[in-house]
Amino acid sequence: MLITDQKPVFIFGYICDMSEFLDQDIKFLPGVGPKRAEILFKELQVRTFRDLIYYFPYKYIDRTKIYRISEIHSQMPYVQIKGKIRNMETAGTGPKERLTAAFSDETGTIELVWFKAVKWQKENLKTGREYIVFGKPSVFGGKISVIHPEMELAEEQILKPPGLFQGFYITSGNMKNAYFNSKAIHKLQLVLGNLVKGKIPETLPEYLVKRLKLVSLEKALITIHQPGNSLELKNATFRLKFEELFFIQLKILSIKSNRDKKFRGFRFEKVGFNFNTFYHQYLPFPLTGAQMKVIKEIRRDVNRNVQMNRLLQGDVGSGKTLVALMSMLIAVDNGFQCALMAPTEILAQQHFNSIKKLVGGMQLGISLLTGSTRKKDRQIISEGLESGSIQILIGTHALIEDNVVFSKLGLVVIDEQHRFGVAQRAKLWQKNDSVPPHILVMTATPIPRTLAMTVYGDLDVSVIDELPPGRKPVQTMHYFENRRQQVYNFLRQQIEKGTQIYIVYPLISESEALDLKNLEDGYRHITEAFPDVKVSMVHGKMKPAIKDSAMQAFKNGDTKIMVATTVIEVGVDVPNASVMVIESAERFGLSQLHQLRGRVGRGAEQSYCILMSSYKIGTESRKRLETMVRTNDGFEIAEMDMKLRGPGDIEGTAQSGIGFDLKIANLGKDGEILQLARNVATDILENDPLLQSDENRLLQKSLSIMKSTEYDWSSIS
Ligand code: ADP
Ligand code: MG
Repeated sequence: MLITDQKPVFIFGYICDMSEFLDQDIKFLPGVGPKRAEILFKELQVRTFRDLIYYFPYKYIDRTKIYRISEIHSQMPYVQIKGKIRNMETAGTGPKERLTAAFSDETGTIELVWFKAVKWQKENLKTGREYIVFGKPSVFGGKISVIHPEMELAEEQILKPPGLFQGFYITSGNMKNAYFNSKAIHKLQLVLGNLVKGKIPETLPEYLVKRLKLVSLEKALITIHQPGNSLELKNATFRLKFEELFFIQLKILSIKSNRDKKFRGFRFEKVGFNFNTFYHQYLPFPLTGAQMKVIKEIRRDVNRNVQMNRLLQGDVGSGKTLVALMSMLIAVDNGFQCALMAPTEILAQQHFNSIKKLVGGMQLGISLLTGSTRKKDRQIISEGLESGSIQILIGTHALIEDNVVFSKLGLVVIDEQHRFGVAQRAKLWQKNDSVPPHILVMTATPIPRTLAMTVYGDLDVSVIDELPPGRKPVQTMHYFENRRQQVYNFLRQQIEKGTQIYIVYPLISESEALDLKNLEDGYRHITEAFPDVKVSMVHGKMKPAIKDSAMQAFKNGDTKIMVATTVIEVGVDVPNASVMVIESAERFGLSQLHQLRGRVGRGAEQSYCILMSSYKIGTESRKRLETMVRTNDGFEIAEMDMKLRGPGDIEGTAQSGIGFDLKIANLGKDGEILQLARNVATDILENDPLLQSDENRLLQKSLSIMKSTEYDWSSIS
C-alpha cells in the first residue's frame, strides 16, 4: 500500500517488503484515535504506523541525569530535578496572570512559573507529591526559575531512569496548541516500539548486515526513538543513515549502468577540419591545462559508442564556453548538429555573440533561437535544422519546444544547469528518436562533493579547477551603511580610472511592484550621487528589447554604472567591469553572492566586490558575508553554503528530481557514510549488475518498489 499523494520523491521506509503491520492506519495505535490521527496526517503527513516510526527525533536530551537544585545555574540548557511543590501562588490578573510554585529538593528551592493555562495548572498540580521537573532555567525577577516546565509525577514517569535519551520531535504550532507536543509524540513512539517487535522485516541482505556490523532494521527503528545510551543511539543512527544513502546510491548507479548498456551513443570518431582550424587559427589564447584535460575527457566519452552524460563544473570565469564550443566542433566534424541551451535570453544572446566572434571567419551555420525570435525567423531556422545547414543552434527554453526538429542532433550542451528542471532536460534528451544525443551539463555553481554524488550521481564529472592566467583574485569587502559615503568616493575613483561598476539590488518583498520600487529608488539614489555619470538599469520585468539595449550600452562602455537586480547574476561577461557592489548583501544566499562576484575580475585590472549591509544582521548572514570576504574558492563556498542552509535548500536540488527528503542522513555531515554507501553499491553492482543472485534478491525487490513510487529515472540525466 503506497501512499500516492506524497511528493514523488525517494520514499524512505517504503522501500522494503510491504509489511502489512506497518501499513496500518495510525488511528489504530493506542493513544491516537481519529482526532489525533487527523492532526498527525495534516501536520506531519503521518498516516500509518510506518510513517510514525520513520518520524525521527531531531535531537536528544540525556534524561538519565537528575540535578540537585543547588547545582543549577541560569546558563544550563536544561535541567531535570526531582522534588516537591511546597506552595503555589498566583499574581496579576487577566493576561498578566501568572502562577509561581516553590519547588524544593533536599538541597534547595527553585521557582517554577506559568503564564499560560494558569487555572488548569493550579487545579492539577499537587503540593506534597514527588515530581520530576524538566525545563530550561532562566533568571526571572532576579531569581533562577524554570518557566513552563514539563511536570511528571515521579511514580507515573514514562522515562524511567536509568536510561533513555529523550528524543525531541518537530511539531507544528497547531499541534502545540492542541497539547500535542514533542513529548506526546515520544509517548506514541514508545507504544509503537512495543507493538512492532518481531514485525519489521530486514531490508538489507544478511551478508551486508554482517560485514558492516549493522544492527537490524527493527532494532534500529525501535532504538532511534528510545536509545538507552549514546552507543545504542550511534549504532541505530548509523544503520538508518547507511540504509537511506545506500538505496539512493544503488538506484542511481543501477540507472547509470543500465543506461550505459541500453543506450548506444553516437560515435564521434574523428577530430576534423573545424576543430583543427579553430584550434590552430582562431583560438585567441592558449587553453588552460584544465580546459585541455576536460576536452580530452569529453573526446574520450564521445568516441565510445555510449552516450555521454557529463557534468562540467567550473567556477565562474574558468572558461567553460570555450570547452563547449570545442566539443561542439567535434560533433560538427562528425556530421552532427549541436544545441547549446542557456537559462536566459541575455545569456543565450551572449553565447551566440561570443561564439560567433570566436569562430570568426569559419564557415559554420550558427543560429540563435529564443522566445522572442520572430515567426518568420523561426521558419528559416526550422528549414536550416532540417536541411542541416544549421550546425549549432544556441538558445533558451525555446530549443526544447516540440516544433524544433533537428535532422541529426548529436550533442546538447546545457549551460548553468541549475536553472533547468529535470523534466526540461529529459525533454531535450528525447529529441532524437533512436539514439540519444551526448549531453554535457555545465554548471558554475560548484557543488559539494556529497551533493554531486547524490544529485548528479549518475553523471560523470569533470572539473575545471584552474582559472585562465593573469586573473587577479577579486578583493572582497564588507561595509555597513555608515560607510556609504566612503564607498561612493571609492566608486568615483574607480570610474575615473576608466572601469565600470555593477550595483545589484536583491529581491526583497513578495511583491514585484515593491521590488521594482526598491530598485528604482536605488537607481534614483545613484543618479543623484553620481550626477555626471551615465547609469543603466536592468531588471527581470523589462521587455527583452529594452533590457538588451541597456545591457548593450553597458557592454559598450557607454554607461559606467549598471544598476540591476539579479538578472545579471549568471554568465554575463563585461571584462571592463571591475567593481561589483551588492546592496543588502545579507539577503543573498552564498552561492548567489559568489555568482555575482564572478561577474567581475575578468579583465587585467584589480577587481573589487563590495558587500553593503545593514547593522542588524543575523549570525547566518554574518557568516555568509565573512565567508565571502575570506575566500574566493567556489568549492569552499559551496561546502559552507550547504553547512549553513542544509542541502535541501541548495539551489537546484528542488528541481533535481531526487527528493531531498532525507529523513535522517545529512549530506552536509554524513559524507563518510555516503562514500561508504556508494562504494558498497558500486561493488555489488559490479558483481551482480541486475541484482539477480539469491543474496541480492532482496535489494532487487526494494529497488523495483522504489522505482514504482516515482517517475522514470532512466530518462533523466
Ligand atoms: P565561464 O566558465 O564562467 O562560462 P567564460 O567561458 O565566460 O567563463 O570565460 C570567461 C572569460 O575568460 C572569457 O572572457 C573568456 O574569453 C576568457 N577565457 C576563457 N578561456 C581562457 C584562456 N584559456 N585563457 C585566457 N582567457 C580565457
Ligand atoms: Mg558561462
